[in-house]
Amino acid sequence: MTYQSINPNTGKLLKSFGDLTGAELEKLLAQAESCFETWKHTSYAERAAIVNQAATLMAEHVDDFAKLATLEMGKRIDEARGEVKFSSDILAYYAKHGEAFLKPTILHPQHGEAHMESSPFGVIFCVEPWNFPYYQLARIAGPHLMAGNTVVVKHAGCVPQCAIAFEKLWIDAGAPVGAYTNLLVSHEQSDQVIDDPRIKGVALTGSVPAGRSIAARAGAHLKKTSMELGGSDVFIVLDDADLDKAIPWAVWGRMYNAGQTCCASKRFIAVESIADKFLAKFTTALEALKPGDPMDESTTHGPLSTEDALVQLLKQVDTAVEHGATLLMGGKRIDRPGSFMETTILTDIEPDNPAFRDEFFGPVVSFYRVKDEAAAIALANDSDFGLGGSVWTEDEARGKRVATAVDTGMMFINNIDWSDAELPFGGIKDSGYGRELGSMGIQEFVNKKLVRTGHFPAPA
Ligand code: NAP
Repeated sequence: MTYQSINPNTGKLLKSFGDLTGAELEKLLAQAESCFETWKHTSYAERAAIVNQAATLMAEHVDDFAKLATLEMGKRIDEARGEVKFSSDILAYYAKHGEAFLKPTILHPQHGEAHMESSPFGVIFCVEPWNFPYYQLARIAGPHLMAGNTVVVKHAGCVPQCAIAFEKLWIDAGAPVGAYTNLLVSHEQSDQVIDDPRIKGVALTGSVPAGRSIAARAGAHLKKTSMELGGSDVFIVLDDADLDKAIPWAVWGRMYNAGQTCCASKRFIAVESIADKFLAKFTTALEALKPGDPMDESTTHGPLSTEDALVQLLKQVDTAVEHGATLLMGGKRIDRPGSFMETTILTDIEPDNPAFRDEFFGPVVSFYRVKDEAAAIALANDSDFGLGGSVWTEDEARGKRVATAVDTGMMFINNIDWSDAELPFGGIKDSGYGRELGSMGIQEFVNKKLVRTGHFPAPA
């Protein structure tokens, strides 16, 4: 069964959901297409009213949405509330700015007049991960619905109740049936959906293997895709970093969402002269975290999303150590019910260690010491991923220089990827392509059409 809601704090099954039958899937795809035929003709003001109402309803029911996320995927309750509020903000942002982002732009050719106009593609298939069970959905629903597309969404197998709650939000907000559709489908059915001629674009947020499979399938039909994939972001500590500022961010950067964030700080690179001091303070700060029920406000270290996620991460740490890494701290499952992993620090990771290239999706720090700034940049760029990263220095110009030199889609100086509705989000290399959020996020699945008017003679 693809969809099971299991409480990762206890390991107890809460609810199971069957996959859609073929007939049910066909009905939902037909509904989404037929809805598109009317939705594309609605005005921006009409769409904005519905998207805004969805934002308002989320904001009014923060606790209901948040508790469901905590229950299904173990996010600490205060983080879950923050995610719901932010998802509401994203929807409100696109309701407010969608029309302006897509207004025709005037061009100035040598002859005649020209402009670019934007029109929606049609039904967009979105495949989304569990780690931000609402934020990821808001990132695609807000812009694509405002653009006049309709969306059909496959959410992750472990968060079916969040998926259903987010679909209900749209009905409650007054969206027509078929504008936003949750699909409880298997991977095989997902392939079928990608193949379906009614689907005009495919957006994935997920792992690299999922990206390869889904992009290849869509590519066979020449369907446009956007890929938001994994990351192994650096946290570069230069010799002039202010550790009092950097350490709390290092803890947050690695441990937010129990370390299960694509743009979490995963590789900590400190220059020699400050490395010992940084590592000692970072270790102390990590030791202070208290594992517990994520529903309890005082918990500072929650479970991983599923038992499978825990088993995979423990195996990755074991493999790293077998290949020569030093386990400085943690590395084991926490002796209590649920899928809890000790906060872990690995050092002495050589380039031939699988840990050098892999993404650790949980509370595992990879720590590196390097000679200087140039070595930090070289190590940062020696990665298959290119999502984000941060640099810590009291010299802003130096920070900007390093930010420019690191090959990623996003860089942050003295802060970490704290996502904002107006800031484009995305990566390069194995971290994928395309951007979500900001003005760029709404442009992914629209036809940018050139229209030229001119009364000039044909060339001889
Ligand atoms: P995942 O296994 O790729 O799952 C993500 C979604 O893709 C789920 O809905 C999953 O469905 C689906 N999926 C996976 N393989 C599929 C296939 N062959 N056909 C159809 N659907 C498929 O990713 P995860 O491990 O759960 O999530 C964590 C990954 O996502 C990490 O690598 C993280 O860095 C990345 N991520 C990236 C961003 C970003 O914006 N760049 C944001 C968040 C997470 P099932 O659950 O049913 O398998």
